Order: sequence, then C-alpha cells, then structure tokens
Amino acid sequence: MDKALDSNDFNILVVDDAPENVMLLGLILKDQGTVTTATSGREAIDIALENQPDLILLDIQMPDLDGYDVIRVLKEDERTKNVPVIFVTGLSDESDEEKGLELGAIDYITKPYKPAVVLARVRNHLRLREYALRLEHLNEQLELLATTDPLTSAHNRRYFMSKLQDEMERVCRYNRPSSLLMLDIDHFKNINDTYGHDVGDAVLIEMVKVLDREVRHLDTVARLGGEEFAILLPETNEPSAKLSAVRLLDAVRNITVKVGSDEVKFTVSIGCAAFDCGCEGVEDILKFADLALYEAKHGGRDRVVTRSSLPAA
Ligand code: GH3
Ligand code: MG
Ligand code: MG
Repeated sequence: MDKALDSNDFNILVVDDAPENVMLLGLILKDQGTVTTATSGREAIDIALENQPDLILLDIQMPDLDGYDVIRVLKEDERTKNVPVIFVTGLSDESDEEKGLELGAIDYITKPYKPAVVLARVRNHLRLREYALRLEHLNEQLELLATTDPLTSAHNRRYFMSKLQDEMERVCRYNRPSSLLMLDIDHFKNINDTYGHDVGDAVLIEMVKVLDREVRHLDTVARLGGEEFAILLPETNEPSAKLSAVRLLDAVRNITVKVGSDEVKFTVSIGCAAFDCGCEGVEDILKFADLALYEAKHGGRDRVVTRSSLPAA
C-alpha cells in the first residue's frame, strides 16, 4: 500500500505547452514512476483532478490558463490541494519565483535547467510525498483504532459521545428532536457461564451485525462497553424511535448462535430517550436513556421503555 521510492509507483504529471519540453522532462523522470503529460493548463487540471498525481511539474507561460492559474485551481480543490507542484519555467525574475512559491509550489526550477539537478530535486520531493502518504495512512488507522471496538467493529463509546455531542448541536440549530436507544443484553452473564466466554463474544458480534443491518444508514450503532450498546437516531421523534426499538427487539429475538447442537437465543432490553435543545448536555440524554433501560429491566426485560426528555406537549 505504501509507495516505495524505487518501485515506480509514483504518478508524475508533466505540463508544458511545448511538446519537446514535455518529452525531455518525461525522459529525465522515466525511472521515477509513471509519467503523464499535458500540453495545456486546462488539460493539466482535468488530469490532476481525475488522477491526483504524486507530483506535478508545471510550466508557467502557457496560452489560455497559465501555470499560476492552474496551481490556484488545484490548491482550491479538496482532491488536489495537497498534490505537490514544482514550477519548471523560463521566468527567472525574483518576483515570479516568489509568486510561484507563495501560490503553494514546493519548488521552482528555472530553464535552462540541469537534468541531473531536476532529477535529484524530484526524487527528494517524491520521498517527502511518500512520507506524507504514509503519515496520512497511519493517521487513518489510528483514527479507526481510537473510535472502534476491536471485538465487534462497532463504534466505541468515545466515537459515540462525540457523535452525540454533534447531534445535540444540530438538534438545537434546526429545532427538531432526535432519539437515543440504550440496549443491554438480558442475562448475558448466563450465556458466558453456560457456554463460555467465546460464545458470549460470538453473541456480541452477531448482535452488532444485526443492529447494523436493521438501522438506517444515518443511525450510529456503538458498543458502550460489556454487553451494552447505544444507537443514535437522528431526526427521529419519540414514537418513531419506539417503533424502531420494537423492531430491534424482534430482530434480536430472531438471532440464533449455534454451539454444537445447541442454539443460543437471547433478548435485549431497550431504554429510549428522545431529546431536543432543552437537554442540559449529552450526559443528561444518556441519563434519561439509562433510566428508561433500568425500568425495562425491572419491568421484566425483552421490552422497550421510553422516557422523553422533551417537555410535555
Ligand atoms: P441483565 O439482564 O440484568 O443485564 O443481566 P446480565 O447478566 O446481562 O448483566 P451483568 O451486568 O450481570 O453481566 C454482564 C456480563 O457481561 C458480565 C461480564 O463478564 C460480561 N462481559 C462483559 N464484556 C464482555 C465481553 O467482551 N465478552 C464476553 N463474553 N462477556 C463480557
Ligand atoms: Mg445485561
Ligand atoms: Mg450490563
């Protein structure tokens, strides 16, 4: 997945309106990766947006869109704003070079250039590009680890709390209620005690699969800890949230985890809390859902109890 400097994996875009210049740079760089060429600013932008090259060598003086115009467009687009650009140009004034670098180019090479120096500079920038890509990839992995429950691959509590915070702010902005479901597997300890911890784990994994399948795309399923889960239902009032919860009760009743010739069945209890801007904070919302869950447990389990934190209509 990571690009190695010598693996020819890099995509390099060379842009110059003179075909002989493009050809020469292409020859100098041929061992550094796949070289694509463009002979106008427009073509360069199209290719860059489509392919997101690892490096662009860009001429400045071109008819229609010049190199400055091209880099401005690329730096404003999410897809290309981090693609490094080196100007390779006949403009050798200090002010031209200053302008090019201020527009975001990482280097500025003037013609006539020394091929060996161009190659060395390109290799340095490709190395930096490789580090940047590696760092981006590691950050994505880190983000995933920090927000995911390793057993079930559901979102974890940290992710859920930040999502709930965002949702509360959204609810206040648009003044429309959302809901939170708190789920806890009934007598889960019995499953562990009877069949062992691995079967308990299998139940948790199956549970998340079913919840993910049953909820809407916009809803967030998280494992808060142990055998406790939460689901955030944006744009959902109390009656609709209750309907969803009842559907989930049914879906969980239909789960079967096979252990040899045995079939493990289980149920959940669900606390449901609708919330709007009147809530003090996310802790408040969780408290309401927790109280409802507590009532569901004490009412006999395998049921939904709703507790609105909204003022009575
Ligand atoms: P209730 O109906 O009142 O919720 O009873 P319960 O047995 O489900 O609840 P209790 O809190 O007594 O037991 C939860 C058990 O969940 C105890 C704990 O060992 C087990 N548990 C917590 N995390 C995991 C896990 O990751 N895997 C497995 N297999 N068990 C876990
Ligand atoms: Mg339980
Ligand atoms: Mg519990």
